[in-house]
Amino acid sequence: MTPEDFRAYGHQLVDWVADYWRRLAEQPATLPVQPPVKPGQVAGQLPSKPPAHGEPIEAVLADLDQIITPATTHWQHPGFFGYFPANTSGPSVLGDLISSGLGTQGMLWSTGPAATELETVMLDWLVDLLGLPARFHSHGPGGGVIQDSASSAALVATLAALHRASDGAWRTAGVDRRYTVYTSTEGHSSIEKAVRIAGLGESALRLVEVDPQTLAMRPDALRDQLAADRAAGATPALVVATIGTTSTTAIDPLPQIGEICTQEQVWLHVDAAYAGSAAVCPELRWTHAGVAHADSYCFDPHKWLLTGFDCDAFWVADRAELVAALTVLPEYLRNAATSTGAVIDYRDWQVPLGRRFRALKLWFVLRWYGAEGLRAHIRHGVALAARFADLVRADDRFELVTDHPFALVCFRLRGGDDASNERLLTRLNAAGEVFLTHTRVNGRYTLRLAVGSPHTTEETIDALWRDLRRLAELA
Ligand SMILES: *Cc1c(COP(=O)(O)O)cnc(C)c1O
Repeated sequence: MTPEDFRAYGHQLVDWVADYWRRLAEQPATLPVQPPVKPGQVAGQLPSKPPAHGEPIEAVLADLDQIITPATTHWQHPGFFGYFPANTSGPSVLGDLISSGLGTQGMLWSTGPAATELETVMLDWLVDLLGLPARFHSHGPGGGVIQDSASSAALVATLAALHRASDGAWRTAGVDRRYTVYTSTEGHSSIEKAVRIAGLGESALRLVEVDPQTLAMRPDALRDQLAADRAAGATPALVVATIGTTSTTAIDPLPQIGEICTQEQVWLHVDAAYAGSAAVCPELRWTHAGVAHADSYCFDPHKWLLTGFDCDAFWVADRAELVAALTVLPEYLRNAATSTGAVIDYRDWQVPLGRRFRALKLWFVLRWYGAEGLRAHIRHGVALAARFADLVRADDRFELVTDHPFALVCFRLRGGDDASNERLLTRLNAAGEVFLTHTRVNGRYTLRLAVGSPHTTEETIDALWRDLRRLAELA
């Protein structure tokens, strides 16, 4: 493909994306959020072998429109309320386009000086933007890095914590003691995965009880569990606290948990994958009280901060421990910059060696929106969630199940059993205008409404509410 071919097709595809976004915003009803697709339907429409000779882009575009788009879940749809949002935006896509065009592989400072330094500066900007502890800033012993996901952040935090708990012996001897890891019963499944991958085994994971009302970790239960494990000969290595649990956005009490971790000398990782973005708003910073105790912290700009997947921002208070846990330096990667010790080589901050130039999309997003633009986005979601919660509260056929400090509302039919709530969700999603998912709270089936798309309006919420009330009659 010549640069001139690329220019022509590139313009055409930018138009394609712009038209798609306009349709999502202006005619959302023409695109079902969750398409009615059967397993195997897409694969069945594709040839089983790659073409022997090159094809024109027109042929690819025809299949894109006929096979791929109709079988796509529209995460940017104004009626997408499932899981947590995965926002993208114009500036994010444009930044990513440059990243793709440059094709930089930024494993070392020397393989991408701008990729490395822009990333460091962006992570420093985010410390300021979210009001995070100064010890995460790269000017001191700490610093930040972009991971692909919060799951990877949990894994590298686990490895750094093991490194600390074993005084580095873990690197040579492997796991030579019985290490234990703690999160609440509401902690994310990626913690269990990290514990498995780290070779500790699932039996090393302690799921600490939560308060049945707030669903937040109980500090007294954590303290008891730590004491019991020490008495039984285990070495507690890591506590993972959550700001905004996946199920209901519960907030673990960091001031107390942090104090316990300091006393017990256990690594504290804070997982704020979804809710971290809220800290751009000063009025929501109370959700981050006690975060100064964290040895590491992460959040996903790819969830709620208008930055396309993948982009997880991860910080450590002491980068030396993380780097010591993960560094390897084969001969073929040696270079003058690395030997001076004056540069960051981000390959030592993550599991893979190679890495994309992801800081570009973040840079485009932060500059295009500015702090005030990002705050407006978060406030928009929080206000729409509050609008919905008010409607639920005012109707005695429904009930709110938990608090809604962010833009997730958990609700169900009052007095309805699990089956009737499940039927309600199925019927609501069937029309394709909205898509919600569910969870269980204290064992009971609960609907989740996670507002996140910038295209969602008061009218989207009000129309959804009308549907819900109508369907509640049938449930
Ligand atoms: C979404 C989520 C994760 C996992 O996020 P990925 O970036 O997809 O790995 C982890 N923790 C919490 C609390 C989450 O909500």
